[in-house]
Amino acid sequence: MTRSIAFIGLGNMGAPMAGNLVKAGYTVTGFDVAPAARHNAAERGVRVVDSVNAVVDGVDAVISMLPNAALVLDVWTQLADIVRPGTLVIDSSTIDVESARAAHLLLPACVTVDAPVSGGTGGAEAGTLSFMLGGEADAIEAARPVLEPMAGRIIPCGAAGAGQAAKLCNNMLLGISMIGAAEAFVLGEKLGLEHQALFDVLSTSSGQCWSVNTYCPVPGPVPTSPANRDYAPGFAGALMLKDLRLASQAATDCVAATPLGAKARRLYEAFVASGQGHKDFSAIFAYLRDNHVEHGEQTV
Ligand code: NAD
Repeated sequence: MTRSIAFIGLGNMGAPMAGNLVKAGYTVTGFDVAPAARHNAAERGVRVVDSVNAVVDGVDAVISMLPNAALVLDVWTQLADIVRPGTLVIDSSTIDVESARAAHLLLPACVTVDAPVSGGTGGAEAGTLSFMLGGEADAIEAARPVLEPMAGRIIPCGAAGAGQAAKLCNNMLLGISMIGAAEAFVLGEKLGLEHQALFDVLSTSSGQCWSVNTYCPVPGPVPTSPANRDYAPGFAGALMLKDLRLASQAATDCVAATPLGAKARRLYEAFVASGQGHKDFSAIFAYLRDNHVEHGEQTV
């Protein structure tokens, strides 16, 4: 039974996730290259050490939560030489599907799972993340109790890489739907509609979706949405762009038609290039409203 867990990558997501494992009674050892991240994790009860070697010493399971695929592959390559055979190794970073599959192959003697998350830093703090799992059926069952204290939902998606595939599809749809919601409010404003009146219609009619009902991109109708705090994230536009780029690359690689996904990527590229990548991705509403358009077509 898993009692001790190594956590590698203690950033905005990793530190609160590791903290929830501590609260659930696990012994959690953590490693991060950034001193501030190590400090934050230590305050949450994580025993912080100063190397990958030290963090995996004697543990039953390892979780990585890193910024990109190159770092995941680098860290998992190091793990190959030092973890005990049979160790459960989970990656919860958002990375491309091919790299996720390659990571599984680096650790053939371990029980490996790709388990990217949805739910952002709020979900990480609250322990309500949605985990999308890829791997062998017995690996997914082994991962379940370890992920439980950090999770609202745990969804098996298929074989190695399937968790990342589901994550990319979800976030491509989210990017498109947020732009759609933002466009409806931009047009509504120009037509003289109050935000609340339009929200009351959209949120109860066929336009309803998470981007309208839960995360409304205009201030007022949904008090908890980032629009009410000057678009402080939440989920930063730069991270949405990262995911849309991964989706575009995946669509190119497997020859899938995703024209709106490509358009959403270009819009978020322009949004980030305008210096707003640190703002919540729902600030695309203000970007669209304030920028030049011709015949309703954004000029990017
Ligand atoms: P972050 O940049 O805050 O944290 C990543 C941490 O990894 C940093 O503290 C960094 O110092 C550390 N790190 C980098 N290289 C390392 C190494 N070689 N060894 C150990 N530590 C290393 O990022 P985050 O927001 O916590 O996101 C982590 C992952 O989760 C990303 O892949 C991101 O796309 C994904 N994600 C983020 C969110 C979100 O809302 N922030 C939501 C869902 C998924």
